[in-house]
Amino acid sequence: VNGTQQDGSPPTAVVGMVGAGQLARMTQQAAIALGIELRVLSKDRDSPAVDAGARHVAGDPCDMKSLLRLAEGCDVVTFDHEGVPPALISRLAAAGHQVRPSPAAQLLAQDKGEARRLLSRSGFPVPPFIEVAQGDVEAVRSFAAAHGWPLVLKAPTGGYDGRGVEVITSAEQLASSPLAAASTRWLIEEKVDIRQELAVLIARRPAGWWQAYPVVETVQRDGICHELQMPGVIPAALAVEAVSLAASIADGIDATGILAVELFVTGDGGLVVNELAARPHNSGHATIEATVTSQFENHLRAVLDWPLGDTSLLAPAVVTVNLLGPVGGVDLARGLPAALEDPSIHVHLYRKAHRAGRKLGHVTALAETVGEAQAKARRAAACLVAP
Ligand code: ADP
Repeated sequence: VNGTQQDGSPPTAVVGMVGAGQLARMTQQAAIALGIELRVLSKDRDSPAVDAGARHVAGDPCDMKSLLRLAEGCDVVTFDHEGVPPALISRLAAAGHQVRPSPAAQLLAQDKGEARRLLSRSGFPVPPFIEVAQGDVEAVRSFAAAHGWPLVLKAPTGGYDGRGVEVITSAEQLASSPLAAASTRWLIEEKVDIRQELAVLIARRPAGWWQAYPVVETVQRDGICHELQMPGVIPAALAVEAVSLAASIADGIDATGILAVELFVTGDGGLVVNELAARPHNSGHATIEATVTSQFENHLRAVLDWPLGDTSLLAPAVVTVNLLGPVGGVDLARGLPAALEDPSIHVHLYRKAHRAGRKLGHVTALAETVGEAQAKARRAAACLVAP
């Protein structure tokens, strides 16, 4: 473990986190307040979380020795991404380390096919789907005969920000799709008539106590989440249904920490589950300023089996805009003073290297109305990432 040893009282707890990206960075912010020492495992020291003061454990998240080195001396090990093979997580737990969430819950967040199968078997609403071996165009044709084109093709693992998702309008397109050629298994599902996309975040302790955050509405473009509203503008009954669905899933898979459940509101007003993330989630960044306890703090409290904090909203309307790297580069420092002209805006920059479409930060605005929050957040985002 690198980092400077400090004089003074020992930490209140030591948490190991696999991964050192922006989610670990914002978890570090929450760890500071509670006197927790956060250790992060990543190949590079040069990372958003280490930059924010988390202790660096150098190593590969897919290497058992590195995972054991991270876990040594930690009260609990948790994750900021889904890249660790569940078999390794199981071995870490078998070696006597506390690992939360469990390998089984991780697998569902890692493998979309696995999640679809388990959720549908347990009676949760998911889009009609099949999972077939690469190249089985006949199976896809017969699925299309029952459900109609277009269909959605997904790589069961490894996708994010829409990279593993493609709308397929014909068998010919499937045959020539680079995504189809790249995935050894094809998850094929009905193209849902999406009216709205929602996310419900649940913080859950090992014995099952949980708290839900207000339902978030996400606005996606090209599979990437651009903007989020909390609470989502949906009927109260639908919000209750969304939370109870997410909480049943959290109970069903015995999630610990934050579980994010992404939902589609379908054309007829019903809900279907899209995907799960068993960690702090992009849809919950507004909780840093907009709820009594942030998702990052509640993730730490939950995995440490400490009492959870209040998830109530502090403003009637909250909007977050993700700062996506524009094509051709960006100078965030140049736009920052202009963004800060609004004295109420909250800016978070992750100090990641620029890449077009990459999430480089986010801004959050709290206001009396959705329109006002939207205008404030969009204005600040435009100052920062205007090409
Ligand atoms: P990722 O893991 O890359 O975020 P998702 O499975 O969440 O991938 O899909 C990304 C986006 O693609 C969703 O937010 C949604 O807009 C769209 N999408 C995914 N599945 C479907 C589907 N079955 N029908 C219609 N649109 C879908």
